[in-house]
Amino acid sequence: MKRCKKCEKGKRAGSQRYEIELGRRAFEGEVRGWRCRVCGERYYHGPDLEHFEKLVARWLAENGFDTGAEFKFMRKAAGIRAADLAEWMGVTPETVSHWETGKHPSDVTTRALLAAIVLDALGGKTAMRDRLGAQRSPARRKRIRVAA
Ligand SMILES: [Zn+2]
Repeated sequence: MKRCKKCEKGKRAGSQRYEIELGRRAFEGEVRGWRCRVCGERYYHGPDLEHFEKLVARWLAENGFDTGAEFKFMRKAAGIRAADLAEWMGVTPETVSHWETGKHPSDVTTRALLAAIVLDALGGKTAMRDRLGAQRSPARRKRIRVAA
């Protein structure tokens, strides 16, 4: 039986309510975890938390978002490094940082791109980043045979 790390006494297993606040929105759900009977400290099952964060990122990608905090949350929940995102989008890491801090808010097109990249990443795909790569360096061939 695991002990509470804070008071080193009791534990209570079960599911715990979990909430993520992102500016004016709050996402709530239940994840496996336990709450110390003695001091009230809560512990959450890591993989459940990760899954919950991915569900939130998917919701934002599908329903729209507009704050830097949401932008950063989605990028991180999808396991994307800021430097990689900057490279795929053809901007500097500093620009990504400005979008995420709100110093220079991102525009609709940028957010739609992030949404597509995040949905791909959550599904283990790279379609949008591949399209961005192709647009950054188009094929130089002049004659291309396509199958009829
Ligand atoms: Zn405790």
